[in-house]
Amino acid sequence: MVNERMFGLGNEPSAIRELFAYGMARKAEIGDDKVFDFSIGNPSVPTPDAITQAVLDLMGEPATTLHGYSPAAGDPGVRATIADSISRRFGIQATADRIYMTVGAAASLAISIAALTDPGDEVVVISPYFPEYKVWIESARCTCVEVPAHVPDFQIDLEALAAAITQKTSAVIINSPNNPVGAVYSEENLRGLAELLTAKEAELGRNLYLISDEPYREIVYDGIEVPYVPNLYARTLVCYSYSKSFSLPGERIGYIYVSNLMEDAAEVYAAVNGAGRALGYICAPVLFQRAIARCVDIPSNVAPYAANRALLTEGLSALGYEFVEPQGAFYLWVRALEEDARAFSDRAKAQELLLVPSDSFGVGGWVRVSYCVSSDVIRGSMPAFEALMSAYR
Ligand code: PLP
Repeated sequence: MVNERMFGLGNEPSAIRELFAYGMARKAEIGDDKVFDFSIGNPSVPTPDAITQAVLDLMGEPATTLHGYSPAAGDPGVRATIADSISRRFGIQATADRIYMTVGAAASLAISIAALTDPGDEVVVISPYFPEYKVWIESARCTCVEVPAHVPDFQIDLEALAAAITQKTSAVIINSPNNPVGAVYSEENLRGLAELLTAKEAELGRNLYLISDEPYREIVYDGIEVPYVPNLYARTLVCYSYSKSFSLPGERIGYIYVSNLMEDAAEVYAAVNGAGRALGYICAPVLFQRAIARCVDIPSNVAPYAANRALLTEGLSALGYEFVEPQGAFYLWVRALEEDARAFSDRAKAQELLLVPSDSFGVGGWVRVSYCVSSDVIRGSMPAFEALMSAYR
């Protein structure tokens, strides 16, 4: 007998990965250019040359040290470089002893949740939300409490959140720029969140932690600012990853930053180390720790995503689709043409359009279109979107 829960998770691939796998098979069958795969968030912008060069340079170093273990939390020099970069960019005095290197945001989140909760606790997420949050929360034997975002701007609904926080709440997870809706939480919204959490801490007599999941921090449009959450709420853990900003999702590299402004930062950081140890997330890939340290301040190339956003939103507007104008990340949240998002996604599939149904993100009635694809895919897909719209007329 194996663990039933783990068997269930392994046996049921996520809707996103299932659609992605279907797309690969379908492309092999009818040709790459005939399938419009908007399923997965695999960056289409090439990895910056500086990263490639850093890896090539590092390959000249002695293999034993280059490929050897680092300390569990990551190379101290790398952590110091990242802490200095955080300090320069966000005006907070970040230190290396509050950084824990991880295999991407996925590990950052799984570790943070495990570090902050006891079994039976509640962790609040803002829906629609990244589906794996629920997996990690439930794996820590906690309950995932869903609070719908404020419509139509998809900011955090502070009233609804206040009603959802209970004596059992240990953490709230936010994600801005947001996957799947593309919203960026305003400073005003985040200040309101900080005030709410502070008031609830006093009312409930317990610590409330904010987990800020930020793999899309640099991917924003029209010069919009993404406030640095630790500056607004002290009990914040930042879960960062280079998967999207440097197009390195396969290399599995990111970090957790436990805010230096948190009064119990030493205790939380120790628990982060403990959770990393318990989950086996120690010593993130050393080659990429060191490559990142050499490139930590280089800008992300957002221009191709901005161009895709324009192409897609103009095209879908002209066809009469309703969607949320994205401020960041590379996803478009489009209203399904019928209540049942899965049925809509299936009808899109018949036009060779792969759109992720919103049920995967905890809500009905929408689909997510990942526009981190080549612009040819977007241009080529317009007749299929038109045919899909016609099918509903
Ligand atoms: N959080 C969000 C909101 C994401 O969209 C993703 C990946 O798509 C992750 C976390 C996981 O990122 P990583 O590839 O760095 O583990």
